[in-house]
Amino acid sequence: MKLDTRAIRYLTAEDWRVLTAVEMGSKNHEVVPTPLISQISGLRGASGVNRCISNLAKVGLIAKVKNAKYDGYRLTYGGLDYLALNTFIKRKSIYSIGNQVGVGKESDIYVVADESGKQVILKIHRLGRISFRTVKANRDYLRNRNSASWMYMSRLAAMKEFAFMRILKDNGFPVPTPLDQARHCVLMELIDSYPLRQVTSIADPPKLYADLMALILRFASQGLIHGDFNEFNILVNEETQQPVVIDFPQMVSIDHANAKEYFDRDVQCIKTFFERKFKFISDDEGPNWEDVKRTGKLDIEVEASGFSKKQAKELDKYLQQITQLDQREGDEASQGVSTDDDDEQEQSDNVEEEEEEEGHSNLSQNNRDEMKNEAETPRA
Ligand code: ADP
Ligand code: MG
Repeated sequence: MKLDTRAIRYLTAEDWRVLTAVEMGSKNHEVVPTPLISQISGLRGASGVNRCISNLAKVGLIAKVKNAKYDGYRLTYGGLDYLALNTFIKRKSIYSIGNQVGVGKESDIYVVADESGKQVILKIHRLGRISFRTVKANRDYLRNRNSASWMYMSRLAAMKEFAFMRILKDNGFPVPTPLDQARHCVLMELIDSYPLRQVTSIADPPKLYADLMALILRFASQGLIHGDFNEFNILVNEETQQPVVIDFPQMVSIDHANAKEYFDRDVQCIKTFFERKFKFISDDEGPNWEDVKRTGKLDIEVEASGFSKKQAKELDKYLQQITQLDQREGDEASQGVSTDDDDEQEQSDNVEEEEEEEGHSNLSQNNRDEMKNEAETPRA
């Protein structure tokens, strides 16, 4: 889903209030009934609320849902994006939105600029995307879960990523500097490097290989396993050949039940890539799980940083389910079972895919003042 920020400057203070009300109502309503939206928004007069609702629905920030019992609205990913962006704008973390630089399985990555014009990375977590694309067989399973879960889980992923990046950065690990986090979005330093997968000139593959294996062991010595340590999540600077590691929602403790499996998988990913790409096979068959010596406990310390153990468990469970659904989908696809596009349509946001605008779309001063004057908007 593309991020279309064109409407952001046209939203009135009332529109923002109503959008926030839909978000708040979503916490315990699958479909938020119109009277509840009106009540939470605190706006007087049904006609005003209805006008806002129709404005928001027109630009795809909320979507009308006909429930068996009543009609109402749900927040779309676009709506959640706007709320997060609005928060960043108010905090002066973002000034303008630039081009999309990456589409991951579970995220969209944009270059944005802050007040001073400095470019930074906006990572928008989109956890529901994968599971909602699954085959019919998964539908009953998915139906049982709260549709607000994609918002909640995406937010947990962003919170987790931000917490881990901060503690890793503070402890001297080569990761982008985390800058801000709101809802399902993380702002971080833009690294002027490409994923290892794309870098054409690696001067000394054995050296980089050794650096990366040392890094896996260093993570582990601090109690952590990356869990997705591969050529897409390691950015390598072509000049310095220094690696920077990204993408942390799946990071686990070395005390996790599957820790050894994740550790071995991270090691194997690097081995496989270096063998395939550089025909390099190390004489040293390690590192092995037995080589891990704990000297620190960042896995414990991170729990004090605003991302609790309970939240970690919830996210972990969800990510594991997604992986299982993915595998099942893969199996069924290879057996010729078709995926159910209707289901995807039903679950995905009602935002039309638009041509991407070139360059930065500035959030006008007008709009920014309006947002500033809006301190009393109910906050989630
Ligand atoms: P996903 O979880 O979707 O895999 P990633 O965090 O791995 O998301 O980011 C996807 C891609 O976006 C990366 O492979 C990289 O090309 C780019 N990217 C992400 N973060 C940065 C960053 N801080 N600096 C530069 N490029 C980045
Ligand atoms: Mg990645």
